[in-house]
Amino acid sequence: LEEQLRKSDTLNVVGELAAGIAHEIRNPMTALKGFIQLLEGSVKDDFSMYFNVITSELSRIESIITEFLILARPQAIKFSEKDLSIIMKETTELLNAQAILVNVQMILDIEDNLPLIYCEPNQLKQVFINVLKNAIEVMPNGGQIDVKIKQKDEDNLLVSITDRGSGISEDKIKRLGQPFYTTKERGTGLGLMVSYKIIEEHQGQVDVESEEGKGTTFHIMLPIRQ
Ligand code: ADP
Ligand code: MG
Repeated sequence: LEEQLRKSDTLNVVGELAAGIAHEIRNPMTALKGFIQLLEGSVKDDFSMYFNVITSELSRIESIITEFLILARPQAIKFSEKDLSIIMKETTELLNAQAILVNVQMILDIEDNLPLIYCEPNQLKQVFINVLKNAIEVMPNGGQIDVKIKQKDEDNLLVSITDRGSGISEDKIKRLGQPFYTTKERGTGLGLMVSYKIIEEHQGQVDVESEEGKGTTFHIMLPIRQ
């Protein structure tokens, strides 16, 4: 419990900071991107490799800002009754092109007649995108990701996303969701922090089950009603 409390304290502080900083950085970023593109056309070929680096670093900053902005927008959250199966189908369709490129198949197994749940659909989409992206990223040689949704009990739905990737050691599972915790060369370490925060706002719960070398399952429990 103490661990959970500490986590949510960190999230609040980060959220407040994010609101201010993200907006301040976005505007100059847009200007930078525009002028870099202009310059690229009028500079010798020898420098083109620098432009690639600049462009890719700029887009990295952008993705960090985007993830921060999601954190910083709790006021805009609009809860309503939605069909989780539709939210999930739309999400996997969105990611399908990226998955197919690395030979990953997402297999959906969704129980019939699920009750509508009270949620903020765009935020839940963001969670599924983050978790599915991580799953795709740990299976560079392809394979299958299982996406299951079922009614767990009278009050809760359960989403389970299973990959067959590297797995996560027990001590590292504790670090998931910490701001900037990443093991990837080009990771932001913000995807899971944002996701945990969103699930917390839905009064839901995330459980991670993992075996090193075998794969990982993210269990996301969501209450049906408020
Ligand atoms: P990022 O993807 O930018 O690194 P995340 O917050 O999405 O940031 O994830 C943080 C870290 O958690 C990842 O760098 C990785 O080490 C670990 N992780 C998350 N999902 C998985 C997964 N499905 N399998 C193995 N490791 C994972
Ligand atoms: Mg990620």
